[in-house]
Formats: sequence, structure tokens, C-alpha cells
Amino acid sequence: MDLSTRIAQRLAALDQQGLRRRLRQVETACGPKVRVNERDMLAFCSNDYLGLASHPEIIAALQEGAQRYGAGSGASHLISGHSHAHALLEARLAQLYSRYFDSPRALYLSTGYMANLAVMTSLARLEHETVFFSERLNHASIIDGLKLARAKTCIYEHADVTHLGRLLSETPAAMRVVVTDSVFSMDGNLAPLRELAELCGQYDAILVVDDAHGFGVLGEHGLGVLEVLSLQYVNLIYMGTLGKAAGVSGAFVVANEQLVEWIVQQARSYIYTTAAAPALAHALQTSLDLITGTQGRQRRASLAAHQATLKQYLHLQKWQAPESDTAIQPVIIGGNELAFQVGSFLWNQGLWVPAIRPPTVPADTARLRITLSAAHTRNEVTRLARAVVQAEQEYAT
Ligand SMILES: *Cc1c(COP(=O)(O)O)cnc(C)c1O
Repeated sequence: MDLSTRIAQRLAALDQQGLRRRLRQVETACGPKVRVNERDMLAFCSNDYLGLASHPEIIAALQEGAQRYGAGSGASHLISGHSHAHALLEARLAQLYSRYFDSPRALYLSTGYMANLAVMTSLARLEHETVFFSERLNHASIIDGLKLARAKTCIYEHADVTHLGRLLSETPAAMRVVVTDSVFSMDGNLAPLRELAELCGQYDAILVVDDAHGFGVLGEHGLGVLEVLSLQYVNLIYMGTLGKAAGVSGAFVVANEQLVEWIVQQARSYIYTTAAAPALAHALQTSLDLITGTQGRQRRASLAAHQATLKQYLHLQKWQAPESDTAIQPVIIGGNELAFQVGSFLWNQGLWVPAIRPPTVPADTARLRITLSAAHTRNEVTRLARAVVQAEQEYAT
């Protein structure tokens, strides 16, 4: 069999299982109203939770950053790509999180995916017998980071602190690292972080928290789960992403100064890649001003109001809309094909809501993943809720 026949067969199998994914071209800036594949759509799929991706002040800051620092960094951080703009952003982030760490240092990385690779691989190199304890529903970038680290990994069941406790006590290790998403990206629920931190304390374990969907969204100043839970833990590593609520690009890690220095020295996904454009770091300062200031507070209040509106109008009989206190609002449908059909039904009404299928979510839990943004209006949210209720009447069996 030649290569193209082989690939065609494999792709046909994906089609048959309802797992073939399609790229859609967005012709306008990120926002609730987008033009995509030459159609006007109302989008409930971006992670631009605060509506900052098209904020005029951030766009202006990006332009200013490009004027000042140019288009590209030219090299990796440890060669000559580490700009003053990167350093200023890191200092600002460390300062923002100073009450959660003893001597904090922040590190800016190109993406959250690379940040997780950096954290897992460098921690694995700290001690020969490091064992990682990873939550069942962790993001793919954590899973890939653990694979790349080639470290021993135990998976604990979703939100199951008792199971984690058992695994910690049964598993001998020179060093233990517990890794979890703070907000689960396909469910929108929070990890039991206080209990996890307490358990980690008993084993002197490192706790890594990936707050990709909490940063900007949770807490009075948008500082995420640490702020909303007043979480403090001596061996904490906090990761936040800057391409979601922050509306720009990249990610950051905050931890004790020494731990971050170790990541800088060891993480190949930090060392062997060109530093992100300094203009992005410059624009992120404005994003942080907005997130932590009055506008951020107002936008978080709008988002919370939209969550309440959706809940109020989304009366479902058969499908499940699990409790979620975040911008991520799933509707669990079940089968792949059915979820796909419902996604198409909504699409045909001008509503863009992704149908998420395995392997991104467990088998038989294909779902609509509704994401709300402060940039939506109340009317847009009720329109979506009504359409989903109508879809249930037409499609649920
Ligand atoms: C999006 C996401 C990432 C990856 O961040 P990027 O900046 O998009 O690469 C990591 N972890 C979680 C939980 C995410 O949702």
C-alpha cells in the first residue's frame, strides 16, 4: 500500500467515527461576532473570556512595542533574545504574586504548552527518583510534558484527594510532584486545591497548578485560583496563560526564585526556542493593567452575569449541564455523531459552539463546550440558551 492510500484509509476511519476535525477560517478579529468561512457567526468558542483580544489599548500597546523593540526577538532567551520588555513583564508578574510566594520570580514563555513541558522536564531532572502524581483530566500539555520528562507518573482519579493520598503513601520517591489543572478545560470545574496543598504538605511534595482558565477570570484582581482561594503553599509552582483571558499570547510560571532559575537552566522548551516577540510582552503590560484594574473587575462581573443567565435559560431534560463557576459551560450530549449533529444544527443558526469529542474528552461524553466572554451581551447568551434547548428537543433520543 502506498503512503497516500494508507493516509486516506486512516482519515476515512476518522470520518466514520465522527472524529474528523475541520479548520475554519476566521476573517475578523477575535470577538463574539466573527466572520468565518464567509459567514457571520456569533461565537461561543474562544478563550478570550474578558474580551481583551481586540481591546484598542492592547492593540495600541502592541503597535508601540513593535515600534520600540521590532517585530522579532532574533534569538532564544539565553543567547540574545531576552528583551527588556520580557524582563519588565516578568518583574511585574512576580510583583503581582508576591503575597503568595516567599521570594517569587516569574518566567515568561512562548505558550502554555511549552511552559508545561518546561516545568515537567526540569523538575524531573532535579532528583533521580522523582515521581509525578497527575490528575486524570489534566491538559494534554501536562501529559506530554510528563512523557517528555520520562519520569515515573501515577494518575489519580478526577478530583479524588483520597486516591491521591493513597498513591502518595504507597509510592516511594526521593521527590514527589503533584500536578493539576486548576479549572478543568472541558468541564469548567475547580480542582480541590486547598485539600491538595494540605496533602502535598504532608509529603513535602511540589504542587504544580495550571491556571490557564482561571488567570484573569477568578479573584478580585483576576489573579486566578490563588487569589480566589487565598492559596499559599511553600512548594507551589503556578502557571498562567496569557493567550486566553489576557487576550495576547504566551504563558508564565511563578515560583520560588531558585526553582525558576532551575527551569531557566534546564528546560529545553525554554532554552532551545526563539524568544517570543518582545512587543507581545510589552502589550501584556497593558493587558495586566486592564485585568487587575476597574475594567477587569467590571468584565469579570459581566462574565458572572452571563453564567447566571445561561443557567437560568438552559433547561435541559436529557443532556447534562454540569455545575461550572467559570466561563467554560459544557453541555454533555454523549455520542460523537450526535454531538457533531448538534454542533452543525447550531452552526446553521449562526451560532458557533464547538462539539468536543474523544480523545479530548472521555468516550461517550462528547459535548458542546460553550465558552462565555464578558464581550457577549445578555441577549446573545439567551439566544444561545434557547437554541440549545431547541436542539435537545429535536435531537435527544
Ligand atoms: C490552553 C491550555 C494550555 C496551553 O496554553 P497555550 O498558551 O494555549 O499553549 C495549558 N494548560 C491548559 C489547562 C490549557 O487550557
